[in-house]
Amino acid sequence: MGFKAKARKQQKDNGEDTKKDTKKSAKTGELPCGIKGCDNFADKSMGGRSLSVDDAIDMWGTSGYEERKGRVRICKSCYRKYKKENKKDDMY
Ligand SMILES: [Zn+2]
Repeated sequence: MGFKAKARKQQKDNGEDTKKDTKKSAKTGELPCGIKGCDNFADKSMGGRSLSVDDAIDMWGTSGYEERKGRVRICKSCYRKYKKENKKDDMY
């Protein structure tokens, strides 16, 4: 029983190693950024946000984004741009 478990563990270790490698080399998300011309990912785990369509139109125009169920998913850097542009409104 002891050596069987050991053999199994070895197999598992090998599998994990290859899995880790593919994960490392392909650091991609699942949700593409909704802003046209941007190829980042808008996954929550990667700092992505979702804006309302109105906000997206304000920032990128009516044809500068892709809508998804009434929201626009944007990546971290697009959100930063958006925040920067809209900072003035918050300050005054
Ligand atoms: Zn983006």
